[in-house]
Amino acid sequence: MGLIIRSSAIHAAGCYTTTDLRKGTRVAEYTGHHMNKDEADVCYADSPITYLFGLGDGEIVIDGHCTAMFINHSCDANCETRERKGRVWVTAIRDIAAGEEITYDYCLYDGGDDEAICNCGAEKCRGTMYSKQEVRSRKAAAKKAALNASKKTATKKRSKHIVVKRAPKT
Ligand SMILES: [Zn+2]
Repeated sequence: MGLIIRSSAIHAAGCYTTTDLRKGTRVAEYTGHHMNKDEADVCYADSPITYLFGLGDGEIVIDGHCTAMFINHSCDANCETRERKGRVWVTAIRDIAAGEEITYDYCLYDGGDDEAICNCGAEKCRGTMYSKQEVRSRKAAAKKAALNASKKTATKKRSKHIVVKRAPKT
């Protein structure tokens, strides 16, 4: 198995396989320094790019320092992330041919004012890298904010929470 990083049509650099991969293969592990989410919010408050991956309930995040951090999001991905005993694996969910770009669904959450717009180009692109669950809660929050704004009670505060990837809830 071989992975290479090169430029990608999805976003800047991407991760490609040089060999055929069978469905179920662990393609890469998402490794890096583990830190508290609060710590990460402070560290990366003004950083446009982060490589954070939330573990469990999201209290702890992995600050990616690995090949896996270059893997791009796609709404029609060929891999998914699976968390096992505090480790995160990018696993093939279908057979992948040599030369294909490796992708998984970021299922982003948190993120404050970040729009996390998706440019994956998939036919069923949902237009955002946020998880479906997060999209619902953000819509509800926006509605509430709009309601508050109309009552002129809201003070618009810029959220400092930064966006984090995570494994899909199973
Ligand atoms: Zn997309």
